[in-house]
Amino acid sequence: MPTESTFLFAGLLFLAAALGYVFARFGDADDEEEAEASARTNFLRGFRYLLNEESDRAVDLFTGANDLSDDAMETQLALGTLFRRRGEIDRAIRLHQNLVERQSSSVAQREAASFALAEDYLGAGLFDRAEEIFIRLRDSRVHGVDALKRLLRICEVTSDWDRAVDLCAELNRLGPGNVSRSQLAHYYCELAEQARLQKAPELARQMLTQAEVMEPGKVRAVLISADLAADSGRVDDSIDSLSRLGSARPNLLGEVLPRLMGLASAAEHRGRVAEALRQMGATPDGLRGIALGVIRDPRISDPMAIEYLATFVSGQPVLSALLSPEDRGSDSLAGVARLRPLLHKVLKAGMRFQCGNCGYGSAVMHWQCPGCRSWDTVQPTSSGVLEGILS
Ligand SMILES: [Zn+2]
Repeated sequence: MPTESTFLFAGLLFLAAALGYVFARFGDADDEEEAEASARTNFLRGFRYLLNEESDRAVDLFTGANDLSDDAMETQLALGTLFRRRGEIDRAIRLHQNLVERQSSSVAQREAASFALAEDYLGAGLFDRAEEIFIRLRDSRVHGVDALKRLLRICEVTSDWDRAVDLCAELNRLGPGNVSRSQLAHYYCELAEQARLQKAPELARQMLTQAEVMEPGKVRAVLISADLAADSGRVDDSIDSLSRLGSARPNLLGEVLPRLMGLASAAEHRGRVAEALRQMGATPDGLRGIALGVIRDPRISDPMAIEYLATFVSGQPVLSALLSPEDRGSDSLAGVARLRPLLHKVLKAGMRFQCGNCGYGSAVMHWQCPGCRSWDTVQPTSSGVLEGILS
């Protein structure tokens, strides 16, 4: 992770480069010499304040400057971005607000500063203020698409999925591919989940159909569809689709297994769930997936599932060695049940999911990465301590 001083250093280097450019460009113009000399003095003074970590004095100086050239404006925008990235949002806002309010700013300059200011508000979690500015910028030729994308991000944070779908349509009208079909399918899945929670299964199914149109075979849609089938009493259908998914994607058994075992709590469905487990556990990856699923979720207490963990442990010398001597070979089920809390702790201590885009690590599955906000990039990882032993 870059430290604060890295950012400051990067900022200073950038500023130095920008100043060099400004001076090289304007240094020889006689008629502007005086004004440029004054601007140069101010910049150098601001530069010195930054070096001395007197950021407030630097901001005072920059915001007090008179007319700004495009280059000086760019430098201030970059400086504001650096402040924001260092978490100094107040300074970033002061700098950008000043640029927005300058009478001398051109339309392009004001739009650029407005966008930066809205980014500051977004970073500070002041969504209503950010939203207001992004809405004003949505027709901007330069910033329109990015403003719509930021509005989409606000919808994600506030779970306004209907509006997210509308914004996707607007974005894709401006440029096909601005929003991926997979991302749009997730919004429909979110709407389906909302409808399911509000006991509106018909609407939920319609949303899943839309998700399917956007991305056929989407895993998340299959899971919600299985939940809906179980809600409406079509438990066999639910078990079948979960079983198919678990067999095809053993790394998703962490999502599939708790659902299946929930359905097995009713006596009339136990046979079918047992058959599903048998099919899924028939391959080494499937058996490992079931075992990890049981270790992960302490709520799974069904002996039917724990038996698969026992089978798995008995085939792993490293894990078998952890069983107490009296448990080895005898009633392996009881021994494994005693070992399970330890395995759970070890598994929990390791990172179990990781974003392939930004590396964000997490103990739970996310459809959208909390780090970089990408969809479908968080995957189960084998970098955890226990999974490292088992892989
Ligand atoms: Zn990420």
